[in-house]
Amino acid sequence: MTRLFGTNGIRGVVGQEMTASLALDVGKAVGTFFQGGRVAVGNDTRTSSPMLKAAVISGLTSGGCGVEDVGVAPSPSIQYYVKTHDVVGGVIITASHNPREYNGIKAVDERGMEASREEEEGIESIYFREAFSQVPWNSVGRVVNIEDCNESYMGAILSRVDVELIREARLKVVLDCGNGASCLTSPYLLRRLGCRVATLNAQPDGTFPGHPPEPKEEHMRELMEMVADTDADLGAIHDGDADRVMFVDEKGRYVLGDRSLALVARYVVRRNGGGTVVTPVSSSSCVEDMVKASGGRVIYTRVGAPVVARTMFEVGAVFGGEENGGLIFPEHQHCRDGAMGLSVLLELMAAEETSLSDLLTGIPTYHLVKSSLPCSADFKEMVMEALATRFRERRVETIDGVKVFHKGGWVLMRPSGTEAIFRVFSEGSTLEEAERLNREAVSILREVIEDQEA
Ligand code: MG
Repeated sequence: MTRLFGTNGIRGVVGQEMTASLALDVGKAVGTFFQGGRVAVGNDTRTSSPMLKAAVISGLTSGGCGVEDVGVAPSPSIQYYVKTHDVVGGVIITASHNPREYNGIKAVDERGMEASREEEEGIESIYFREAFSQVPWNSVGRVVNIEDCNESYMGAILSRVDVELIREARLKVVLDCGNGASCLTSPYLLRRLGCRVATLNAQPDGTFPGHPPEPKEEHMRELMEMVADTDADLGAIHDGDADRVMFVDEKGRYVLGDRSLALVARYVVRRNGGGTVVTPVSSSSCVEDMVKASGGRVIYTRVGAPVVARTMFEVGAVFGGEENGGLIFPEHQHCRDGAMGLSVLLELMAAEETSLSDLLTGIPTYHLVKSSLPCSADFKEMVMEALATRFRERRVETIDGVKVFHKGGWVLMRPSGTEAIFRVFSEGSTLEEAERLNREAVSILREVIEDQEA
């Protein structure tokens, strides 16, 4: 069976893969999967989102599902609504950080967690067999508009952090909403946290006139300048659906996502007096260093936020996240939450009474080197087995590719899911060390691939 869902829902270019008829059929499939019941539906600020949402709602209601339309909201706001209301699941219309011509459809379960692979397969099976439920006129689902989704979401975050402590710190924050869904939440949240707030791109606009909706360094120039020019304590930026947050320190410098992840992980583990932190196998060692030094332990997962969230749920983790600014706070909810990440960082800064750049000097610096080698998809499995055998004397993690730990560094050899290549990531405490580890791994990997092809 062909797959419909990728690693983060269904994504595509509007008018090409992502059309009204696709959205209608996905709505019908999700409605059939949920077997009636009420489903929450919400969307980001993209120009195509209302069109796709109308089609999804049409599909859901034709199969007998009631719909609670929460309107424009960050993905974590919609997920929180699902978690705390009597609905069987949710559908989010968003393409997250992708460029403006894209859009996407994501399903979440009744706990507000991104659908598991098994649930997606259930929906895909209905979709490809076109085994849609079709109810008569008197069973068609009703649509109600929900007005307070974002308000209760912000209330939940305020109940999870020390508002008084943050208010007393009177932090000055420059926030770049990137014209995305966070325009409706984060600026107001910061005001209630007593911050002095200056915003950039804070009007919802699906043409993304400020910059493309991915919070990466090249899209953060204006934010970095404004933080430096205005003597602010912190710069923050969300992606299009605001499940992620990236930071700029008080000197206007970009903060790598691994470093903010490690900083928050240390804070949460210290506060809990230990606990488990979950992060993908590709994360920097600075995360494990900080967690271990604070009395906690790290569990590694495959790459991708849904699997991190699910593993956290299963093992009862205290915190988890990815290097791209996706931070997960399980006492709040089991999904990435940009505004929650921002609020916890403010609490951390207020509690430590020092600048972000000062706090970051306590995080060890590692260097990352990336390369790749061609490898046909037919050999990928065999190559991974051969690699695991080859390195069996060392600490090896084989949950996603083969990660080999060395003294002061590691190498991750991971087959690409979409291209006929093997990626090689290496990390070392110096650039020379990372380069050396990468060279060695590439030469071993080349040997192993040649053996398999021979
Ligand atoms: Mg996102």
